Amino acid sequence: MGEAHDIDLIRRSRLFDATYYLANQADVAAAGVDPLLHYVRYGARENRNPHPEFDGVYYSTLYPEVGAANPLAHYIREGAARGWLTRSGMAGPGPQPHPDALADDVPAYLKDLIGRDRLMGVHLEITSTCNLRCIYCAVSQPDYTGTTMAHAQFLELHDTLAAMGVSRVCINGHGETTSVPGWQDYARHLIGVGMDVRIISNFAREFSDDEVEILSRFQSITISIDTLDRQLLKELRRQVDVRTIILNQVRVQAAALRRGARTPGIGWSIVLCDQNFPGLTDLVAAGLALGVRQFSCCNMTKYPDLPGIRNVYPLPSLPADERQNAIAEIGRAGELARRHGAAFSINDDLMGIIGNPDADGGRAANGQCARLPTVGETRRCLDPWVFALIKANGDVLPCCWQNPIGNINEATFAEIRDGWPVRRLRQNLLEGTLDDNCGSCPSRARIPVAEQVSRVREFFVVEQATVYPGESANVAAAPIA
Ligand code: SF4
Repeated sequence: MGEAHDIDLIRRSRLFDATYYLANQADVAAAGVDPLLHYVRYGARENRNPHPEFDGVYYSTLYPEVGAANPLAHYIREGAARGWLTRSGMAGPGPQPHPDALADDVPAYLKDLIGRDRLMGVHLEITSTCNLRCIYCAVSQPDYTGTTMAHAQFLELHDTLAAMGVSRVCINGHGETTSVPGWQDYARHLIGVGMDVRIISNFAREFSDDEVEILSRFQSITISIDTLDRQLLKELRRQVDVRTIILNQVRVQAAALRRGARTPGIGWSIVLCDQNFPGLTDLVAAGLALGVRQFSCCNMTKYPDLPGIRNVYPLPSLPADERQNAIAEIGRAGELARRHGAAFSINDDLMGIIGNPDADGGRAANGQCARLPTVGETRRCLDPWVFALIKANGDVLPCCWQNPIGNINEATFAEIRDGWPVRRLRQNLLEGTLDDNCGSCPSRARIPVAEQVSRVREFFVVEQATVYPGESANVAAAPIA
């Protein structure tokens, strides 16, 4: 990028503080030259800083990929969206560029799409702590710590979401909501004001009557259950008894029916690994018998082995004959589900990767289950336009795989939804200039850039979407009668 380009970008970003620059560079002030021109032409190379929160030497040293680029221009183009640090001792993200700096050389119709926002669903992480220590989960790693959202912050957030017209809230993120004492009060509050409330839960503890009653009023419930094999489940999920899960589920369904209401749509979430895939069809059959409407399979992520337990491994890491067995078993389970009208999903690309794990440099053996997009490709993703995950510590994420785009303790939720990082992310998805997270994202398929642009345009022009893109209408709209 040339000098004129950098000057234009930095000016539009409003991140060059001329007053600060001149106050700290007496020679520039005395010379009476344009401070921004001076900074781009000389100042950056002379280690002069453009903003009190931006230390060019610190930034370039911490992120060597900046290379010879102007550090502030690099931050505007790349670092801000990645939450990169801009000075030592920072507690949060650096200063955010003004959205005017976005869409450098981008046509007007793309700028329009980048600025669109229609939040359709929010995951509200009441807690990131968990009552379990599943052996394939980050929670089991020794350095994991969780946090729980303060009730007052939850109430404030609810008001914000209601004011923004959000009516669909899933009350969990990384942790287990039902491990928070009195968690029902959060749910009761949302249901009381007419929200469509959902949850993903491990159902591992036998629920009280009060918990069952409130769960029976949920729109949908996704239950984490990896196998019907009691011993294996105890080992995978550390002491979980499959009978407790099923008892809880049936009690919730019965409570709804007793009230004369529809039961919540029930989905089962299954983390696939080398140990549980042989029983997948049996698991799906049992779920169908219990009225489960969606089966969502995903690949496990491989964390370091833990001592004294049965460690598990991703399917792509298995020998060839075992991988073929896994493909066949997944196929059978999916066919059974579909034959009985239930949805069956698996990470995009995962079947192909199990078949050929050596593609993409063997990344799959560690649990990566997405092929990297090639030139001209992007991901089929609307998440940054329609979804938000609000973590218990206040971080706001545009999906479950990306870095935070802001924190509600430092900016309002509305500001974050309109801020630089989310706009940058949208631009990347529309142009196929994906960062590492989107590049290796397992939940969104690769598609040509032109197709993604058409999809986003249609979504905003056709104004009729009622189902969150990527979600099965089966669970979203079809509770069990
Ligand atoms: S990481 Fe995946 S889901 Fe998230 S914005 Fe990127 S492509 Fe979409």
